[in-house]
Amino acid sequence: MKVGFIGLGNMGAPMAANLAKAGHAVTGFDVAAPCPEGVAPAASAPEAAAGQEVVITMLPNGEILRSVAAEIIPAMDRGAVFLDCSTVDVDSARAVAGQAQAAGILPLDAPVSGGVVGAEAGTLTFMAGGSDAAFATAEPLFEVMGQKAVPCGPSGNGQAAKICNNMILGVTMIATCEAFALADKLGLDRQKMYDVVSTSSGYSWTMNAYTPAPGIGANSPADNGYKPGFAAELMLKDLRLSQQAAEAVDADTPTGQAATALYERFVESEGGAGKDFSAMLPRFEKRGRG
Ligand code: NAD
Repeated sequence: MKVGFIGLGNMGAPMAANLAKAGHAVTGFDVAAPCPEGVAPAASAPEAAAGQEVVITMLPNGEILRSVAAEIIPAMDRGAVFLDCSTVDVDSARAVAGQAQAAGILPLDAPVSGGVVGAEAGTLTFMAGGSDAAFATAEPLFEVMGQKAVPCGPSGNGQAAKICNNMILGVTMIATCEAFALADKLGLDRQKMYDVVSTSSGYSWTMNAYTPAPGIGANSPADNGYKPGFAAELMLKDLRLSQQAAEAVDADTPTGQAATALYERFVESEGGAGKDFSAMLPRFEKRGRG
């Protein structure tokens, strides 16, 4: 397929490279990053978008997505698919989808989970919002870049699924870390704690697959000095999006709100920036109730 790819950062570059490796004709553009091997460089976003069957964006946030969309929608062919894989607020996803539709373009918001490792290995999970026709066009590209793509309903629902998932992830990581820190103070060995919880009703992805305690359970960033992995600031970004969305629809999300406040403090004033989001455990270890 003829593919335009805009936003060739940590995630976009390996995703675009995998598409090129699989034989798709990929043209790329980024304001700062170079094109990866196999991707033809364009001089601007509209140039990368013109004449393509699918245009993929992988950008930092909703504001940048809106500005890139305003540039590329007029340049795109009618009937082409505008596939946004960035994590953005639901409002921006829906606004951009509306503009694309008005121009005869098929929008699909499909944020990912799986991180840089998944982007490199082609094992991302996509959660997609948009029409069946847009999903069907994008499916062969999802197969190259990922292991799973789930259609979630109309435009914006991919982003909704992503922020709900990551709100659970942030909350359960905090719960897992505070429980380990409590166990320490109660004199319960971490390995015993893991052996019980990982096979009991407290089990979770954070406990079983991403164990935040070094040397215990799954091999994870905790075993590598809490080098990300999934950086605490990216967790904070997604938690903030969850609270922005919750406010917009008047949803009561008290633990999501508490997790957002904790990650905010962790990143902004407790040295958490640049660390994996599981570094909440050493944070709790050092603290008392005060
Ligand atoms: P990144 O900052 O490495 O990449 C973003 C790229 O967009 C940069 O190279 C930047 O130069 C480019 N860019 C910015 N403005 C632009 C413009 N106007 N035109 C063209 N290019 C522009 O970020 P990333 O880690 O690749 O993340 C991209 C998206 O994926 C984000 O929305 C992020 O939340 C999401 N995401 C990231 C991860 C992760 O682990 N890194 C995991 C899941 C989802």
